[in-house]
Amino acid sequence: MPRRRPDLEKSEARHLAPCAQSSALSRGREHNEDQHKLRMAFQRDRDRIVHSRSFRRLEYKTQVFLNGTGDHYRTRMTHTIEVSCIARTIARALGLNEDLTEAIALAHDLGHPPFGHLGEATLHQLMAKHGGFRHNAQSLRVVEELEMKYPEFNGLNLTWEVREGLHKPYIPNQLGKGFLHPSLEAQTVDLADEIAYICHDLDDGLDSGLLHEPELHDLELWRTTQEEALAPYPHLEPERGRNYVLRTLLGRLVEDVIIHSSQEIKKQAPPSSDDVRRLPGLIITFSPEMAVLARDLLKFLYSRLYHHPALGPINRRSVDYLTQLFDLFISHPHLLSPQFEVRVKKDGVHRATCDYLACLTDRQIYVQHQKFIGGTPSTEISPLEQSALF
Ligand code: MG
Repeated sequence: MPRRRPDLEKSEARHLAPCAQSSALSRGREHNEDQHKLRMAFQRDRDRIVHSRSFRRLEYKTQVFLNGTGDHYRTRMTHTIEVSCIARTIARALGLNEDLTEAIALAHDLGHPPFGHLGEATLHQLMAKHGGFRHNAQSLRVVEELEMKYPEFNGLNLTWEVREGLHKPYIPNQLGKGFLHPSLEAQTVDLADEIAYICHDLDDGLDSGLLHEPELHDLELWRTTQEEALAPYPHLEPERGRNYVLRTLLGRLVEDVIIHSSQEIKKQAPPSSDDVRRLPGLIITFSPEMAVLARDLLKFLYSRLYHHPALGPINRRSVDYLTQLFDLFISHPHLLSPQFEVRVKKDGVHRATCDYLACLTDRQIYVQHQKFIGGTPSTEISPLEQSALF
């Protein structure tokens, strides 16, 4: 006999911590739908996200390095998968709802535009007089409005809990839609996101030659992790040694979150997921000592990697292309794809253009630029790109 949804919900209820969000107690969906015979609510949400067009586009969107500059660097898709793995590990260890955690993790960057944070900053500036642009808000907009899967409504009709998990930043009294403080599952994804990019940006930074190991020795977290990892293996070849330090660092960060958050859950003992939503502070956090070390590492990445001079030419060209296409579509909205041309009436030409550009991948921006604007690249090709091309 197959295990049907009610059986799965009973089994889930037996295994979840009291403060976790159970599927059976979901507030449901904006548009009424019958429950599935076999799958629980958050399982369905996860599947809807994975089957969406926005999810597939993550493969060709930049994480830190321009998409296509090297096949082993992270993309927005591999970042998302790594966040999902880390978040599920934490959720399982703490007795939280893994399906909900995974669904939020898989959707958390759906609203990221092409060209990473630079693309986000560019669109935000271009939309300054029209409501701005934030990738978090855009992730919610993608699942509530921009995906077109159902005959009678826009969006993916995800449960309230998954949409709540995408609603960031958490500013009290400004959340709307009944969203309160984040669930433990949403808090888990937030921290998993931070852990994932600390580790993989270090990895890609070192791998690309933009960062060098001696630069990291002033960072206590790197130095102590390296000492711990390599003490039994003093003669490893450099690449294997570096990889082993990185995997030890990831394990150390995840373990710290699990141990500290489990103590916090025990101490604060919220009796239900709704009690978590009424708490003023976060429960899923690093220990205070690790929070300081992780912050130092993040500061280092911001100053040495994200604004590295070698990324300058790529970055300048990305800003130019986005800006030129934005201006073009504002004055010629009939050039937008049909879905977004229709949106001009509903949302105005600026928001429709912004939505359209945010949906595109890095390489679709190049194709669109070539098609409508053409000419030679407005800035030089960087050595980083050269090395990947040949
Ligand atoms: Mg992310």
